[in-house]
Parts: sequence; structure tokens; C-alpha cells
Amino acid sequence: LVPPTPVLPAPAGTDPLAVLGVPGEINLDHAASAPCARAAADAVAELLPWYASVHRGAGALSRRCTLAYERARQTVGDFVGARAGDHVVFTRNTTDALNLLARALPAGTTVVTFAGEHHANLLPWPRGSVRLPVPASPAEAVRALDAALGELRRVPAGRPAPTPAGPPVLVAVTGASNVTGERWPVAELARVAHRHAARIVVDAAQLAPHVPVDLTALDVDYLALSGHKLYAPFGAGVLVGRGDWLDAAPPYLIGGGATSHVGAGTHEVRWSTGPARHEAGTPNLLGAVALAAVCAALTEADRPALHAREQALLTRLRDGLAALPHVVELRTFGPDAPRVGIVSFVVAGRDSAEVAARLAAEHRIGLRDGLFCAHPLARRLLTEAAARSGRRDLPPTALRASIGLGSTVADVDRLLAALRDW
Ligand code: PMP
Repeated sequence: LVPPTPVLPAPAGTDPLAVLGVPGEINLDHAASAPCARAAADAVAELLPWYASVHRGAGALSRRCTLAYERARQTVGDFVGARAGDHVVFTRNTTDALNLLARALPAGTTVVTFAGEHHANLLPWPRGSVRLPVPASPAEAVRALDAALGELRRVPAGRPAPTPAGPPVLVAVTGASNVTGERWPVAELARVAHRHAARIVVDAAQLAPHVPVDLTALDVDYLALSGHKLYAPFGAGVLVGRGDWLDAAPPYLIGGGATSHVGAGTHEVRWSTGPARHEAGTPNLLGAVALAAVCAALTEADRPALHAREQALLTRLRDGLAALPHVVELRTFGPDAPRVGIVSFVVAGRDSAEVAARLAAEHRIGLRDGLFCAHPLARRLLTEAAARSGRRDLPPTALRASIGLGSTVADVDRLLAALRDW
């Protein structure tokens, strides 16, 4: 096969994790969508000349595209520590991945979540799901889950004892909060879940961009993430995890590619097993390849060094905000709980949308305002922030600054300087 000619100009430099951006624009909104890393842009540029069908053509271009897609699956699976028997299903994003899992649950599964979850990990679960209150600390989360699962597994009087597996239970928790950046004790929650013969899915949308996430090491059953938060373009995410429920479930998408045989009769169809079962239709090759390229680059990178750099910026940001008397931080756990590069806060007496708009217009700083698709949590934390600060003039929505690979000390300082004016 002839090596293709890139059709996009190569960005300057060689660091695969350098992010693309527009000079002068300060992006402090990585938690919404991170900028694209060079690795992703290069992978797309390299593949574009080969643009052809995946899994559907016999030509050289098509074969290469199929190979690239399946290699991307392998790379992303390796990146999150997928085990033998796990499926790596490409989806559009985390929302899509969690909805897929929700549709794949065995009948009668009870899902246990915490009220602090992003809507994507709160709303797709079936009726009868248990929503535990937002805990005050990681240790309380573990205790509350233990108690809730013990309650669920209790055998009502007169009923037969459950089998070791019992009725299916799935625990659905975030790895890191998109509101506070606080990390959840995923490994401990997984241990508790398994002790009660429950499975656990981790919403890694905000965790994976910041720290290595390994299904095997954490002993987690499923994991969902989004490419666009992981320095790849929009449109590709994954659900990774145990193949048995996924292979037994009805296909998430129905159509070409998900079938191994379709007969003449209306219902004469055999569904594929494996990831193809849930990936009907022509897949998002470029998205998958771009996501895999970033996963590969992160695997090669010095992650402890990246983490230390991010934590230094985060500390600078949080210390700077804490020094502003009119700014109040939102948090679920104590001030020193481990967290990724996300901070939500309010400016007392100021409408958050107005602050965000002025930061954009006057300082070219992009961040997010609102309730961050986690309404129950954000509202609760706003109430808690008012009580903690003793201020009665806090607005009903918040601001969120989130940092990532492209963030600099200058970005943080510009935000702090801009907020000093208010
Ligand atoms: N979970 C968390 C924790 C998130 O932060 C987000 C995105 N804000 C999602 C899920 C949903 O991700 P997506 O919009 O890519 O589906």
C-alpha cells in the first residue's frame, strides 16, 4: 500500500499532545470539549486520502479503513485496560455509551446511582433505579453504597434466598465530577459493588482526560468516555466492558452491520455478537481513529508529569479564587479532596451568565456558566455554598473553569485578574 499524502497542513512542532487553538483565545472550558490534539489532527490527515467504506468494501482503500477502525478499537481498549471478554463498542459519546448500556441491562436490573451524577448518568436508567443522596465525603459514598446494596440484597421474609448472582444490580458512578472536578473512590465503590454481586459502570468522561483509567486495575465492569473531551474531535466515544450482557441484549442500533443473517421472513434475523451488534450503520472511522491516536499518545506520554503540571495550575487557580472575597467555590467533599482540573464557583451579587459573557467579550476567556447538565448537584452545591459563605447574594447558576493540556499559568492568571474587577 502506498503511503498517503497528508491533506491537512501539519501543525508546528512535534509534540503529539500539543493542542490546536486560536492565538489570543483563552480556553478554560476543557470539561465541555477539549481542543484537538496534534495526534488526532495528524491521524485524520493521514487517513483522509484513504477515505472509503469500513467493513463493506473489498478495495484496497476500504480494507485499509477497516483495518484502521479495528486497530483503533484495539488501541482504545488497551488504553482503558480492557480484559479478554470485554467489548469495545464505538458510540457517539458518553451519553450514547451509557444509553447503550441502559438498553442492554438484563430484565429486572436495578441501577444504583448518586444524585450528584451528570444527567447522562442519571436519566437513562430504568424506572425503579435507586438514587442515593449526594454524600459529604468519598468515605460516606462507599458506606452509603454498601448500605444501599445490602438493603437491595436483603431477602424479604418468605422469599427464597437469592443465588450468588441474585437479581442484577448495576452501580453507575462518575470517575470525576463535571461540576467540582472531585474524584470519586471508584476502586472502593467497585469492591463494594462486587461484594454484593453487583456490577459497576464508571462514567469516565471527566476522569480519562486527566488520569490513567484502567478497568482491570480498578476492577470496574464498564466504562464510558467521550473523544471530544479527550482531545479528539466530536462524534466518537466508547462503551467498554463485559461482553455477556451486551451480547445477550437487543441491538442498540438496528440495521446493516449488526446482523449475521437476514432471511426473507419479516423476523428472520440473526444478530451479530461482539461490538458489531450495537454499531449498525456505517461507522465514524475518522472519529475512532482520532480518538485512538490520542489514546496512543497519552499512553506514551509521561502522565505523572502531565498530572503534576495540571495540579499546579489547578492549585494556582483555586488559591487565586479563594483569595477573592466575592468568589465562592462549589464543592461536594472537603476542600482538599483529590480532583481533576475543574473548578465551579460563583461571583457574589453577579449573574453567572453575565460574568461569562463579559469574560468572553472583554477578556477573550471562554468558560461555561449554568448548572452543567447536573441540575440536582449544582443546585444543592449552590445552596451549600450560600450556607458556607454566609452570603445571601449568590446567583442561582454557577461558572466553571476547566483546564487541560493546553492551559498555561498565563491563562489562569488572566482569569483571576479579570475576576478581580468584579
Ligand atoms: N458525564 C460527564 C461527567 C460529563 O461531564 C459529560 C459531558 N459534560 C457527559 C457525561 C456527557 O458527555 P457527552 O456530552 O460527550 O455525551
